[in-house]
Amino acid sequence: VKANGRGWFRLFESGMDDELQGRRKLEHDLRHALQHDELILHFQPLVDSNFRILAFEALVRWMHPTLGLVMPAQFIPLAEECGLIIPLGEWVMQAACTAAAGWSQPCRIAVNLSPAQILRTDLPTTIANILIKTGLPPDRLELEITEGVLMDNTDAAIKTLTELRELGTRLVLDDFGTGYSSLSYLQRFAFDKLKVDRSFVQRLASDSGSRAIIMAIIALSRSLDLEVTAEGVETEEQFRLLGATGCQEFQGYLIGRPMPHDEVENFLRNSSPL
Ligand code: C2E
Ligand code: CA
Ligand code: CA
Ligand code: CA
Repeated sequence: VKANGRGWFRLFESGMDDELQGRRKLEHDLRHALQHDELILHFQPLVDSNFRILAFEALVRWMHPTLGLVMPAQFIPLAEECGLIIPLGEWVMQAACTAAAGWSQPCRIAVNLSPAQILRTDLPTTIANILIKTGLPPDRLELEITEGVLMDNTDAAIKTLTELRELGTRLVLDDFGTGYSSLSYLQRFAFDKLKVDRSFVQRLASDSGSRAIIMAIIALSRSLDLEVTAEGVETEEQFRLLGATGCQEFQGYLIGRPMPHDEVENFLRNSSPL
C-alpha cells in the first residue's frame, strides 16, 4: 500500500485542476502564516447612540508576503475546511484578549467563533486559560456566534455555550436575520445580544419591508431583555432610523472602519468617555 501511495498521489496530482492546486498552495501558506506571525487583527468600534465606545470587534487579516493584505473571506472558509481554524481561532482569541487587556479604557472585545470551534469540547477551557493569562475580565469578552451551528448540533452547542456563560463571557448571535433565524434560539441559548445583519441595515432607508423587520426584531429583543447591535451602519440616515426604532448599539463605516491596533488608543482618546 505504501509503495503505491506515491503513485496514487502523482496520479491525483496530475489530475488536479488549477483551483485545487491553488487551494493547496493557500493552505500551505496559511499554515506557514500561523507559525510566522503573518496574521494581524484589526479592530472596529461599536458605539452607543452618543458615539461612546462600548466595544471593538477583532477582525483577522493576513499580511501575505506577496499578495499583501488578505481579507478573512478569502481564507477563513479554507481554514474551516482544513481544520486550521482551530489554531487560527486560538491565535485570534489570545491576540484579541491581550490587546483589550492593555487598553486605557475598559471597553469590551468581540471575537468571532467558527462552528468548528464551538464543537470543540475544550473551547471553554482554552478561553478560560487565555482570560487568566491575559488578565482580561470575562465580562469584557463577547463571543460572536452564527446560528447555523445551533441548528445542526443543538445538544453539543448548548453544552459549550452553557460552559462559556458560566465562565462569565457574553454571548452574541451574529448576522441575525440571514439564516433560519428564530428568536426562540435566543432564549434557549441564553444570548446577551444579537447583531442585526448588515443586509437589513442596507435596505433600511429604501425598503419598508426591511424597516418593518428590523423594528419587529428590535421590539422583540427588548421585550426578551436582549441587547441589539446594528452592523454595517454607513449613513447618518441609517443611524437615525435605527435609533428611532430603539436600537442602542451601532457598528459600521459611519462610526469607524476596522483599524490596526496602533490606532485604537487614538480613537479612544478622541471619543467621549463612558
Ligand atoms: P462579520 O463578523 O459579520 O464582520 C463584519 C464585517 O463587515 C467585517 O468584514 C467588517 O469589516 C465589515 N463591515 C463593518 N462595517 C461595515 C460597513 O459599514 N459597511 C460594509 N460594507 N462592511 C462593513 P471583514 O473584516 O472582511 O470580515 C468578514 C467576515 O470574516 C466576518 O464577518 C466574520 O464572519 C469573518 N471573520 C473575521 N475575523 C474572524 C475571526 O477572527 N474568526 C472567525 N471565525 N471569523 C472571522
Ligand atoms: Ca462578527
Ligand atoms: Ca456580522
Ligand atoms: Ca457576516
